[in-house]
Amino acid sequence: MSPRAPASRRTGWVFHETYLWHDTGTGAGPFPAGGWIEPMEHIESPSAKRRFANLVAACGLDRELVPITPVPATPEQVEAVHTADYRASVQAQAATGRGDAGDGSSPFGRESYAIAMLAAGGVVRAVDAVLDGEVENAYALVRPPGHHASAETGWGFCLFNNVAVAARHAQRRGAARVAILDWDVHHGNGTESIFAADDTVLTISLHQDGAYPPGSGPVEVVGTGAGVGANLNVPLPPGSGTGAYAAAMERVVRPALARFRPDLILIASGLDGNGMDPLARQMLHSDGFRMLARHAREAAEELCDSRLVLAHEGGYSPFVVPFCGLAILEELSGARTGVLDPFLAAIQGYGQELLPHQEAAVDRAAANVPRVPRP
Ligand SMILES: [Zn+2]
Repeated sequence: MSPRAPASRRTGWVFHETYLWHDTGTGAGPFPAGGWIEPMEHIESPSAKRRFANLVAACGLDRELVPITPVPATPEQVEAVHTADYRASVQAQAATGRGDAGDGSSPFGRESYAIAMLAAGGVVRAVDAVLDGEVENAYALVRPPGHHASAETGWGFCLFNNVAVAARHAQRRGAARVAILDWDVHHGNGTESIFAADDTVLTISLHQDGAYPPGSGPVEVVGTGAGVGANLNVPLPPGSGTGAYAAAMERVVRPALARFRPDLILIASGLDGNGMDPLARQMLHSDGFRMLARHAREAAEELCDSRLVLAHEGGYSPFVVPFCGLAILEELSGARTGVLDPFLAAIQGYGQELLPHQEAAVDRAAANVPRVPRP
């Protein structure tokens, strides 16, 4: 690991303690407790995010970052993406003390409407800071996550689609073309559906083939109507590691971004592609996420004056997530904390090389790049 070095870029950092107070109740894995399912902490718990924030503070990296105080999104900002009925339904359910965002696996508590508005608003504030030139790039460690939420409903632990709300806000502020890269290990189905017919927002999802939602995110889905070409799915076989993800970035993501020429790049930054995540079977480690962040930063520098905002999504290993997140923040800011990732060697040992069946999957996705709309 490199020795300590100060930040060379201004990187914004959005975090708020109340993100950890979003109450998902009890469950077992992704399922609600009840029947023969003995209650334990719901898997979308604060643990991984709290430990990520704690590591950033413990090693002093927070002092190298530019703090950005989140403010709640307005109903108008949320309703630029979601139906008014859905937003009001979350608000009304929360007022009763308990609710579910729509699929039976997205439970929430009394404060969760306000916290979800603060999550969306946190990403909006990060976008403002980048567009105003206060920072070059920013990471928003928000909760609840957002990328499975569609216009009409929550899904998969997600209430409001934070990154989609931020994209529409950016467009209203004059960033006409927005690219959203989703490296959460699960398909960004909500974001895909929201922008399916829109050729001003490029959506790209790297995900474990068919993992969640079941069967969602095949390579053939490229958008609808005017949006054909502006959605790219890169379903990677289970067991994909840094080699496969690097090939996806080099052969699909970077060429697609170069063709689209965004004014702003947003990342749906799920860290559940790590090799010890309980909800997926991919094999990224902290240096793999560092590589993803480097590609995102370089693309933003080349194409849109460095304008880059990452919004936290999934990531369910409380012990590995903090080190993956720290690596991303080091790459964004240029700082080096000297923190050693104790899990790196173990996950490297799983095998990280690009295998032929993974390469074939990347090449199938790359075949869709020529359809990405140019300005
Ligand atoms: Zn996920």
